[in-house]
Amino acid sequence: MKQPTLSTVLTSRDNQPVKSQRKPAARTYLDNRVTKSQTNHRRTRSQRARERLRTKEHLTRLAVGLGEVELADKLQRCHSRLSVLTCGRHIARIIPNFTCEFRLCPDCGRRRSRRLQNKYLPAMSAFMLHRKVTPVHLVLTQTHRKENRKQSAKRIKDSFTKLQRREFWKQYFKGGTWSLEFTKDKKGLHHTHLHIIGFRRRFFDIELLRGEWLAATGDSHVIYLKKIEDIATGLREVVKYVSKPLDIRRFGAEDLKEFLGLKNMRMFGTFGEFRDFCKDFEPSDNDAAAVGDLESLARDLVEGCACPQCDQPLFDLRMSGKGLPQFYEQVESSPPGKVGTSWN
Ligand SMILES: [Zn+2]
Ligand SMILES: [Zn+2]
Repeated sequence: MKQPTLSTVLTSRDNQPVKSQRKPAARTYLDNRVTKSQTNHRRTRSQRARERLRTKEHLTRLAVGLGEVELADKLQRCHSRLSVLTCGRHIARIIPNFTCEFRLCPDCGRRRSRRLQNKYLPAMSAFMLHRKVTPVHLVLTQTHRKENRKQSAKRIKDSFTKLQRREFWKQYFKGGTWSLEFTKDKKGLHHTHLHIIGFRRRFFDIELLRGEWLAATGDSHVIYLKKIEDIATGLREVVKYVSKPLDIRRFGAEDLKEFLGLKNMRMFGTFGEFRDFCKDFEPSDNDAAAVGDLESLARDLVEGCACPQCDQPLFDLRMSGKGLPQFYEQVESSPPGKVGTSWN
């Protein structure tokens, strides 16, 4: 059976009529069952790599069908040849021959979300320290309407702007980041959610925020709010919608066509005081080290360097992108130092 995700639960709740007379049942916003099932549902790296390949094949087929030859070609070339720096048991760095930078490409999406994490995590840590705020993960939803993706995104962003102008928001929040998530229900209706990392000044009752969101949207009361215990995990959770903005499995030719029309739509941004803070923030080397910026550490690694995880020398393995899942599989199950070198 398919595991319910936070999105599917929120989407099904979007469909419920607003009962403004009756107070919603206490704590319905904090569905521990859902968040737990999400964390239990971790897949291995090889499974995820295989899924990325399938997604890309699916997208390429759709692009060919639409006559988008250039896009199809780019998707096919992206990450098709890899240089993998490995000790045999760990992968220190993967350098692709080519990156397509297409927004729905799962490989490029991963790189993009890693870039965002490396960029914002030091700023977030510093902001929390200086401003004495608590990070929360807030999901805002809206009722469904017959509209296209663009209209749906504009509606929720406009409502969020209204929310930020309200006294309540100014009193309790000091800015944060937002990202858009698109889903579609079985009837083909768009559901757009805003995932927000909000920096909370002090505690408030969730029902107050629910009322404020209802006032900003006119008809939506479904929100989700959870305190973020670890900011690195919280940020990773939110930027994953930048790498995976929608459910590609249900993605058809029409969806791709519509998505291509969204070219310049922003999917991630900062707001409020945190936005201003980021403008002036220059991370020092200490900040990067403090948050474990593996990306910048890995950038300097070359063949012959010691593996950061086990100190064994690294060697450069050339393979096709299609060979990566199998390589992960072997790395995941191999004893020290035993790994083949033919991965084509
Ligand atoms: Zn790509
Ligand atoms: Zn190693």
